[in-house]
Amino acid sequence: MKADPTDQQRLLDLAAEDLALTQLAHRRHTLPEVAAVETAEEAEREFAAEVVRTETEARDLEREVKRLEADVDVVRQRSSRDRQRLETGGLPAREVTAMQHELESLARRQGDLEDQELELMERQEAAGAALAAAQSGHEKAAADRERAVQLRDDALADVTEQTARHEAARAATAEGLPAPLLALYDRIRTQTGTTGAALLKARQCQGCRIELNGRELAAVRNADADEVVRCDECGRILVRTAESGL
Ligand SMILES: [Zn+2]
Repeated sequence: MKADPTDQQRLLDLAAEDLALTQLAHRRHTLPEVAAVETAEEAEREFAAEVVRTETEARDLEREVKRLEADVDVVRQRSSRDRQRLETGGLPAREVTAMQHELESLARRQGDLEDQELELMERQEAAGAALAAAQSGHEKAAADRERAVQLRDDALADVTEQTARHEAARAATAEGLPAPLLALYDRIRTQTGTTGAALLKARQCQGCRIELNGRELAAVRNADADEVVRCDECGRILVRTAESGL
């Protein structure tokens, strides 16, 4: 293929834009801000689960305390009823003794229940502290996640903005290039995954970084300026300039 040397040199501008676009696409898929959001979301989920766990524990303990209080009430009512009957008097001696025994056993029972209640209240206090810690941890994790999402969105917007700029620049560069030359460039670009042309600089293809051997160099040197030459290694169009070392 033949192409005006000026057009061939413009392929280098096209290649520069394609390289930038390839790097931007890579950046979009490897943004540390995306991984940071995942980490923040995971932490938030863990704290949310901890809130549920500690809330359940606090609720269970509250229920247990209420049950104990009800038990204590029953015992108190029974004691007070027994005492009233003793105070009223007129009971047979045997019943008085039985009632006194019952009162003693009720007092022991009340003491036990109150001990249990105290212990429960201590556990309630610990559970309340754990719940408060989980809630504040969850709030902080949610704020961290929001910040991480903002940073990720900013980074993505930056990539999008730069991509649009390079795409516009690429379109402007491609405009006016002969269609066959552009088609060849694009075919090679699809094959390499990055660019379709490279500068031949100091005898080295800047696309694959491999130095041309004597035979290849001679072929390039002997080719007319408007002849489109390609790298034997990577297939890119080799663009010759004063830097080529020919
Ligand atoms: Zn090459």
